[in-house]
Amino acid sequence: MKLFMPQRVIFDTSSLEYPLGKEIYLFFKEKNVEIVNATARNAARFIPGITHSEKYANSKRTMLITTNKINKLDVCKPSADYQFSIVGNCPGNCEYCYLQTTQGAKPYIKVFVNLDDIFNVIKDYIKQNEGKITTFEVASLGDPLALEHITGSLAKTIDFFSGLENGRLRIVTKYDNVDSLLKLNHNKNAEFRISINSNYVIENFEHNTAKLDERIEAIIKLANAGYPIGFLVAPIMQYENWKEEYGILFQKLEKNLGIHLSKEKLVFELIQHRFTAVAKELILQRFPKTKLDMDEENRTLKWGRFGRYKYVYPKEEAEEIKQYMFSLILERFPNADIKYFT
Ligand code: SF4
Repeated sequence: MKLFMPQRVIFDTSSLEYPLGKEIYLFFKEKNVEIVNATARNAARFIPGITHSEKYANSKRTMLITTNKINKLDVCKPSADYQFSIVGNCPGNCEYCYLQTTQGAKPYIKVFVNLDDIFNVIKDYIKQNEGKITTFEVASLGDPLALEHITGSLAKTIDFFSGLENGRLRIVTKYDNVDSLLKLNHNKNAEFRISINSNYVIENFEHNTAKLDERIEAIIKLANAGYPIGFLVAPIMQYENWKEEYGILFQKLEKNLGIHLSKEKLVFELIQHRFTAVAKELILQRFPKTKLDMDEENRTLKWGRFGRYKYVYPKEEAEEIKQYMFSLILERFPNADIKYFT
């Protein structure tokens, strides 16, 4: 897909003290992009917009180049032991995105340039785990691959992990910007999950992300470059024709992956659609014409790990989705390793 280019880039003053901050500044200096120098605290003031939709759209075209000074990592079950961030948010406009509620009224994109500090925190966590393998998810709070042509920081992260005996990196993405990663010496310590979904979900809800064919092409390139790969099917939704459409998805996947890849022990992770009351309110403000089914009557409440109730499919429907998805996957990929359905 066409590579993302922001309209406006805000450089937090401290970011220019780091080599990556300077590299990104030089990258944008030659581009037709508004450059602003400000503190991270004031960044939102430079993003125009009156209505909720305008603020949202303008924020998604704004990047803040800054630092990430955290020294504690959140757990990231069931997909990894911990999560960390080299970017926050992404240029995509997925209507259901779980980040809707965590990024404020102006959800701009953040890029963190103090990579060595972040890597030192990771090393500490690995050390504390005393000789066991520790896994880290880099894409829980954003999609670094969507920005890789600007930052190059995912390549640096893969390189860092390649030298770790007990650290493994996990990258989930809806983008296809993988070419700069194919020649890296990753040592199989970095694993990709491409997010896939039915045509209805991608077309109606995943705006400004790569098309399904582009994502599949990217995962084939990554597999051929020796990276461990797998698929995240999320969020799985029930709608008219959902069974037929998910059937077509796996049929297409098998065909495009080719005999060689489809016989491998591919990993699948499955997540049903969920939403919170706060997310519903924000989604309706930002996407007033959304077709997302957020009717509480059709769902059941489940306590979430972030201290909020979320609406998920009732038990019987969730079980139906699970059984159906398992059967579709195992029919096409008998050696598949289905890690979880949640
Ligand atoms: S690509 Fe991922 S992070 Fe970006 S909007 Fe979509 S769901 Fe959210």
